[in-house]
Amino acid sequence: GLTGRLQNVFSKLRGKGKVSEDDVNEAMREVRLALLEADVNFKVVKDFVSKVKEKSIGKEVMDSFTPGMVIIDIVNKELTELMGGSQAKLAKSNKPPTVIMMAGLQGAGKTTTSGKLAKLLQKGNHRPLLVAGDIYRPAAIKQLQILGEQIKVPVFTLGDQTSPVEIARQAVQHAKDNNLDYVIIDTAGRLHIDEELMEELKQIHTVTNPDEVLLVVDAMTGQDAVNVADSFNKQLELTGVVLTKLDGDTRGGAALSVKAVTGCPIKFAALGEKIDALEPFHPERMASRILGMGDMLSLIEKAQANIDTEKAKEMERKMRNAEFTFDDFLEQMDQVKKLGPIDQILDMLPGMNKAKGMKDLKVDDKQMGRVEAIVHSMTKAEKAQPEIINHNRRKRIAAGSGTNVAEVNRLIKQFDEMRKMMKQFSGMMGGGGKGGKKN
Ligand code: GDP
Ligand code: MG
Repeated sequence: GLTGRLQNVFSKLRGKGKVSEDDVNEAMREVRLALLEADVNFKVVKDFVSKVKEKSIGKEVMDSFTPGMVIIDIVNKELTELMGGSQAKLAKSNKPPTVIMMAGLQGAGKTTTSGKLAKLLQKGNHRPLLVAGDIYRPAAIKQLQILGEQIKVPVFTLGDQTSPVEIARQAVQHAKDNNLDYVIIDTAGRLHIDEELMEELKQIHTVTNPDEVLLVVDAMTGQDAVNVADSFNKQLELTGVVLTKLDGDTRGGAALSVKAVTGCPIKFAALGEKIDALEPFHPERMASRILGMGDMLSLIEKAQANIDTEKAKEMERKMRNAEFTFDDFLEQMDQVKKLGPIDQILDMLPGMNKAKGMKDLKVDDKQMGRVEAIVHSMTKAEKAQPEIINHNRRKRIAAGSGTNVAEVNRLIKQFDEMRKMMKQFSGMMGGGGKGGKKN
């Protein structure tokens, strides 16, 4: 996928102490291909690549301590910018109720998202009203009612014989009368955009004067999602987009193009069918997710606040030269413990989600105590040169630490993995500081 391809490009760059203009051109050629393959709009790709190139080729970057990291940082920032820069918040009327109108093609996720949004608002101590404005699709009203019951949010319906325009009008009045502060109007979709649908949506818009018109698009449809957004926007003046089905096998094209093509910010991301699978969209988080960096940036910030930079530099040097020993491992564990629960930290590291999936990489805080016991049972020579730990030594270490040989084996294997991983990521942590510039 996109993340894997970008990681390949960047690991090549990271490995280099010096980066030439040719290296940047080559990397950007690969970034361009990766984005196109992820179904990002070609014009968006062109602009993106030329911006990144322009910023990367400067002398300041080339001469920096870790040029690869600086370029990743540039790509990260530009990706974030592409998706709107910062989080676009949901509008709030100063004359409640705030009216939110949902729009989109059939099957995009309007009804489900309406329910999820109601739940989010309810969590924020609001009193939403769901409005059953799809009178055409069989069981559409029922679907919304079931969602409403599930989260205990009232659902306004006048059945399927009253026009959606009238339903919407009366629903807003109902909210006013009952002191409900958000009105979420679910509407009908079609398989394709057509005149009749647009006309009805425009009329609902006229009678309710919504604060938000959220277009719900299926991220799995890539470029099509962007085209749909573009045509809706030309007729309805959208205020935001909700990207659904981001949990699926999406290539990222919709998320990366929609803002640039339509000018409409993505306000929410839906990541599953469950009622709580909706979250405010954060461009910066999405960018680091696409880069496969987890919350690397926040981890770096945390680390900078907690980790002794001199020690970190020394560790980094050791990792680079593959001199990392079990003594360093123990010390590293002490440092890591200062950052918080190990599971959370691992979640923030790139590539670690995959590593966590590996059966023999058990990580919890209790486990860390056993790990420490094992390392403490090693001799000086064993800690410094893990290669010498043969079977007999493993048996002795297991007995000494009150564990068993399987656990010792697992730790040594884990240590080897870690060494490998560290080599791969060396240069990312510590050393050059944020942005990787010489200091
Ligand atoms: P509507 O026609 O636009 O109202 O779409 P629905 O809300 O009825 O959703 C259509 C289908 O997509 C349903 O089966 C939903 O469960 C599913 N769906 C909606 N959002 C998501 C999502 O974020 N992830 C996944 N995996 N499925 C979703
Ligand atoms: Mg629906």
